[in-house]
Amino acid sequence: MTLPLPHPALTAADPELAALVGAEELLQAETLRLIPSENYVSRAVLEASGTVLQNKYSEGYAGRRYYEGQQNIDQIERLAVDRAKAVFGVEHANVQPYSGSPANLAVYLAFAEPGDTVMGMALPMGGHLTHGWGVSATGRWFRGVQYGVRQDTGLIDFDQVRELALAERPKIIFCGGTALPRTIDFAAFAEIARESGAVLVADIAHIAGLIAGGAHPSPVPHADVISTTTHKTLRGPRGAMLMSREEHAKAIDKAVFPGLQGGPHNQTTAGIAVALHEAAQPAFAEYARSVVANARALADELLARGFDLVSGGTDNHLILMDLTPKEVPGKVAAKALDRAGIVVNYNTVPYDPRKPFDPSGIRIGTPSLTSRGIGTEHMAAVADWIDRGVRAAGAGDEQALTAIRAEVAELMAAYPAPGLSG
Ligand SMILES: *Cc1c(COP(=O)(O)O)cnc(C)c1O
Repeated sequence: MTLPLPHPALTAADPELAALVGAEELLQAETLRLIPSENYVSRAVLEASGTVLQNKYSEGYAGRRYYEGQQNIDQIERLAVDRAKAVFGVEHANVQPYSGSPANLAVYLAFAEPGDTVMGMALPMGGHLTHGWGVSATGRWFRGVQYGVRQDTGLIDFDQVRELALAERPKIIFCGGTALPRTIDFAAFAEIARESGAVLVADIAHIAGLIAGGAHPSPVPHADVISTTTHKTLRGPRGAMLMSREEHAKAIDKAVFPGLQGGPHNQTTAGIAVALHEAAQPAFAEYARSVVANARALADELLARGFDLVSGGTDNHLILMDLTPKEVPGKVAAKALDRAGIVVNYNTVPYDPRKPFDPSGIRIGTPSLTSRGIGTEHMAAVADWIDRGVRAAGAGDEQALTAIRAEVAELMAAYPAPGLSG
């Protein structure tokens, strides 16, 4: 299929917007996308998410709606729910949260009162805003206490987690995050949650696809509630799910609707159903394994080139690099790599002496390149481009960045992206 993709009705009605969509299609096709929370959805997911389901209001849940005309919508939502339960091995699934942040807010609504103490990983340590961080509504309306990783190992400090939990007695403990390169020990968190009387929420937004594909341990049966986005490693549309044992089903459903949201986004529900169907296929397990194999291979190649990786490597899809030894700030590196056709994000590293808007690190991940079919044999080349790009950033060498961009585009042309290639 040639790019940009044909959008005849859109092009006729709004050529200005159509041109921007086309430009984004080209950008996603030609660049090496290494942002660990991003991916390429399939054509099937794209099609399901762009249907007339968009036109329907369906407040409530399947069989219990506040509007008529739900003959098809109920079946679509039931499909998504049943597939989520099968893929993750859970008793209950709610597929209506609009995205990961509202899903987490629904968890607060279900299990805590304003002012209650909640506990999560600090944002600069790799946690998420919605785990009680100060600038988030969750940190303003609740009392957030925060744990981190050990400075010497870069690993979660379970002594600190236990001490804090027993001293502060939080209503909710969140585990999971946005910049954690290592396997999460859900059993260890569950033991601490039990000792301190907290509800344990496993936020698997980043690693849901790895769990579905068997490439990361599951939080079932350790966590009371599982929160996830559907658009990261899980490779579905932008959305979220909350999953739990039957005992928490009512509280979660009530919190999502009518507690927090109105009508569900049925076109997204359909896309989630398709993504979960794809996640149940053997090819998805292969994808999940390859995401991890690629990340490990890339980490080894980066270490060999003198990069400092937080925790010394990775167990999952994500690598967090401290660029301090390279004497290039994360933002400078990220912007230079972008000009070289390599899309990453600048990121704080644990105990970062620099400011969050100008931190020491960059965060990279392998889901998108794996979805294109790029394998471990190419990770030396990827590490080389990053190495040359970071050095060019330090030296202000724009020519070197342009040269990398051409090499990147050549590899991308050989591995067309799902969704953009028929
Ligand atoms: C991405 C993410 C979220 C938030 O998801 P949005 O869809 O961006 O609101 C929540 N928790 C974690 C751990 C995440 O990585």
